[in-house]
Amino acid sequence: MSIEITDLTALVGDTAGFELTAPAEAVTAAIRQVEAEHPGYSHSYSTEIRCNAWGCGRFMEIKVGKGHNNAAAEAFAVHRAERVDALLAEWFPAPEDEDLGN
Ligand SMILES: [Zn+2]
Repeated sequence: MSIEITDLTALVGDTAGFELTAPAEAVTAAIRQVEAEHPGYSHSYSTEIRCNAWGCGRFMEIKVGKGHNNAAAEAFAVHRAERVDALLAEWFPAPEDEDLGN
């Protein structure tokens, strides 16, 4: 089973800190790149999903049962948000990094 999540920011908006440091266009570009590189996930067990991306294959534990119907999608959205965050950190290094030479 593969699920596409197109509205990443709607799912993880509260936990995404990158919006404060990067231009909106860069965030959008990063999200598109991550969506392309991490296109979906599969269930390896009922309590675990695995990213389908070649070279990633990240496993994520998920909760199951009542109230957790969306747990897999949410876990995968968090995974994508982490990748977006890492990508933006590469594109926009924190100011502290630039002070190393001083
Ligand atoms: Zn992945």
